[in-house]
Amino acid sequence: MQNNLNLLTRQLMPNTHWIIFSQNKLCIFQHQEHYLLPQSLDLFALEEYAENTVMLHQNEEHEIYLLDLQQATIETNHSNIQYTLVTLREVLMGSLNIDFQHVARAWQYAQFLRTHQYCGQCGATTRQVQWEMARQCDICQHRTYPRVSPCIIVAIHNGRQILLAQGHRHTQTQMYSTLAGFVESGESLEQAVHREVAEEVGVQLKNIQYFGSQPWPFPHSLMMGFTAEYAGGDIVVDGKEILHADWFEPEALPNIPPSISIARDLIDYTCKELIQKS
Ligand SMILES: [Zn+2]
Repeated sequence: MQNNLNLLTRQLMPNTHWIIFSQNKLCIFQHQEHYLLPQSLDLFALEEYAENTVMLHQNEEHEIYLLDLQQATIETNHSNIQYTLVTLREVLMGSLNIDFQHVARAWQYAQFLRTHQYCGQCGATTRQVQWEMARQCDICQHRTYPRVSPCIIVAIHNGRQILLAQGHRHTQTQMYSTLAGFVESGESLEQAVHREVAEEVGVQLKNIQYFGSQPWPFPHSLMMGFTAEYAGGDIVVDGKEILHADWFEPEALPNIPPSISIARDLIDYTCKELIQKS
């Protein structure tokens, strides 16, 4: 951690931003009607945490550093500065106008650092690699990288209808969405689409087409979206992950996810196509 130990004593670029997590929330300031990431560590008494500091991003214009305080609270030295802690989901919703991509990346990296302090192969203490996001064991040379978990998400259409399902987590909001699930080891994305859909609602698919992707840091998923056409079978929900599923006309959709998600993009795209074709 030599790079990190020297951090607070070295000259920082004028445009330096800090992504500080405290109690699993992001620290931001309100400046007039804008929300901003902290730009100076002088605002805090954080020297004792210098060892936990990691540079996330650097170009000619600015630098972004990560400081994960885990469960520790932060105290400002300046009583006239108001800081507040917000959840990742609040940042994701967009109303704070803070760049979600950097925050999401920082959050996934903070999770990685918390869980990879020791080598998974020999148990020795690991160290930060200076030139890439990795932890290195100098005893057995095992190197680890932040985990990314691939997930498929698929919008299925049949004639003029789209298949939407209600997961057990969404019974309170009565929200219906596209089907999604983790890719298993040794499986192609297309195989994962067929398997997940067969497991959750029991139907077969054809014409699987790639749609787009979205990193989803809750906690470290990469959502890979597809559209697909119904090819056969009756809807039979698994009763565990999916409680109810049905075919919906584009004009009579149930409660669907907000527009920040790839699920919503898939639903909007599919419904638009169905309307245009009919
Ligand atoms: Zn090791």
